[in-house]
Amino acid sequence: MIQKSKRVEAFGTTIFHEINLLAAEYGAVNLGQGKPDFDGPEPVIEGAVAALRDSAHNQYADGRGLEALRIAIAQHEDSFYARQLDPDQEIIVTVGATEAIFAAILGLTDPGDEIIVFEPFYDSYVPNILMAGGIPRYCPLHPPAWDFDPDQLRSLFNAKTRAIVVNTPHNPSGKVFSPDELALIAELCLGHDVTIITDEVYEHIVFDEAVHTSMAQIPGVQDRTLRISSLGKTFNVTGWKIGWATGPAELVAGVQRARQFMSFAVAHPLQVGAVQALQLPASYYEALAAMYQAKRDRLVNALQQANLKPATPAGSYFVMADFSAVYEDDDKAFAQWLIREAGVASIPPTVFYSPPNQHIVSKQARFAFCKSDATLDEAAARLQALGQRI
Ligand code: PMP
Ligand code: GLN
Repeated sequence: MIQKSKRVEAFGTTIFHEINLLAAEYGAVNLGQGKPDFDGPEPVIEGAVAALRDSAHNQYADGRGLEALRIAIAQHEDSFYARQLDPDQEIIVTVGATEAIFAAILGLTDPGDEIIVFEPFYDSYVPNILMAGGIPRYCPLHPPAWDFDPDQLRSLFNAKTRAIVVNTPHNPSGKVFSPDELALIAELCLGHDVTIITDEVYEHIVFDEAVHTSMAQIPGVQDRTLRISSLGKTFNVTGWKIGWATGPAELVAGVQRARQFMSFAVAHPLQVGAVQALQLPASYYEALAAMYQAKRDRLVNALQQANLKPATPAGSYFVMADFSAVYEDDDKAFAQWLIREAGVASIPPTVFYSPPNQHIVSKQARFAFCKSDATLDEAAARLQALGQRI
């Protein structure tokens, strides 16, 4: 009998796929997967189209990423984080942040090593760790502030700890880690010789007084920090899957050693478009944050009206909402019920926790607001109509 490998046996299907199928079946407004329903900036799209029409760009790119893109990423790191990086040694282009994270785990840790993750975690981290033969250790974040217990974090560090994955701004909670929290993580990593893998794909989506501090800016740990980001969230082109990892040459070399045998090279014409994106002026980033702040307020307001008690996020494009005032069962049942009864799709967040800690969010749902105002208004109207029926 042909069987799946034991390595993947327990994985099932991602929640995004499951919810997308159900949302399509019921014609729901889909606030589940973080996927904009509007396009990237025109010059960026046109840059990729022009590259597609120029045959030089339709063959394999440099496996490390186009030189022009690595230079553009270096400029971005300098402008936003005052990091001066060598585009040849300290920057690598990947198939989205997703590949960068997997390649980092494969290229920087060994089987049997412990890797600390905060939960809720982005859904690929744990399968990545398990596929690499690592052991995930969990530090829960607790609503409503999504803070963690410093002693609990401290207790997870031991001689087997090899890496920690930090995600700020954080999906799904919308938390932006404070400089003090990052400094504590840094201190523990220094003390235990631990590598820091930092996923900052929402780096430009922060609201109100919140300020995104990169883990790579914390003094003392720059030489052990790999910073990962991607084009998808900042430029509304999640389908392009262009990401990157930056950091000390030794770490980047480890990532490249793994990823050269995963995808070898990244889509060439899209890398040309990515160069255009990173050359947009500083005002682009301000407008992006302002646009998402207005969308956040629109969705938070709609959820409040529907008595789905949202926690206002400081960053990312997700809102967590407590549904316990309107529904009794758990988050998975709620997500299905809301699709069927209201025609609105969300993501049940227990999938982002290890089983012992799932109770923390078993009465919550994650809603995405990377959607046109018309889509958000339609969701609001449907939620309101449901509220009047129940
Ligand atoms: N990390 C986090 C926290 C995310 O929310 C996402 C979004 N899918 C990713 C990584 C993956 O990014 P990409 O699409 O660039 O692979
Ligand atoms: N980051 C997005 C989310 O959390 C999309 C994830 C995915 O499709 N893998 O919704």
